Amino acid sequence: MNSLSGDFFKALGRFCKGLSILKSKHVLMPYIPGYIELYKTGELKKRIKALNDILKECKLCPRECGANRLEGEIGVCQGGAELMVSSVSPHFGEEPPLVGFHGSGTIFLTHCNLRCVFCQNYDISHLGKGHITTSSEMANYMLRLQKMGCHNINFVTPTHYVPQILASLPEAIDSGLNIPLVFNCGGYESLEVIRLLQGIIDIYMPDVKYADGRVAKKYSMSPDYPDVIKSLSPRIYQRTPILISCPNIVLCIEQMSFQS
Ligand code: SF4
Repeated sequence: MNSLSGDFFKALGRFCKGLSILKSKHVLMPYIPGYIELYKTGELKKRIKALNDILKECKLCPRECGANRLEGEIGVCQGGAELMVSSVSPHFGEEPPLVGFHGSGTIFLTHCNLRCVFCQNYDISHLGKGHITTSSEMANYMLRLQKMGCHNINFVTPTHYVPQILASLPEAIDSGLNIPLVFNCGGYESLEVIRLLQGIIDIYMPDVKYADGRVAKKYSMSPDYPDVIKSLSPRIYQRTPILISCPNIVLCIEQMSFQS
């Protein structure tokens, strides 16, 4: 840590104490994403293989279509074997802690496993706007966003392309990727996939949509949505850090709680 960032951490610590919003069990430290350590130990490679195997009889999401996507079959989500990306850019409309000063590095994936009839990105999620993207291209997208100063890589609607996205990480890490990964999803996730993502994804941003199965069935063909989100919530949020982005620095505040 250089003296400038050291001073910064001390100043931020004083600031937080001054606000009296934090109880004693908080930690301030430079944040190193977990995927880097998992890559070094070889665990990331194992997880990528396990996730890729799921594509043979796809159960990446609770629809469990069983499509053999590796052989070109497509499921309800319309995703096949190849990764498709719709757009890549710094985004300033996300939640402020993700945006910081230089934006959240969004990568919009084409198609969607939830397919809500009211989707604001209908052309992407339903009409398939986007282009086939190789693993190397995806790695380059992430590195380009990091170079632009983005504070994180924000995968928007990644659920149905998790294995293909992760397959691009080793190349990106080798070339210096070191910012947090955001999983910006519809909340209709497989427990098994979330388990395999543990330690790889730094921030979950599930966009919870339904508490009533009848409504979920009507608008997203997913009557089990409320049950899925309830069973996943503790796993998604438990032990997941709350992150604050600052220029070129990401701070991790763990076990933060607010005084009543
Ligand atoms: S990710 Fe797509 S193909 Fe796989 S189970 Fe879900 S809807 Fe079906």
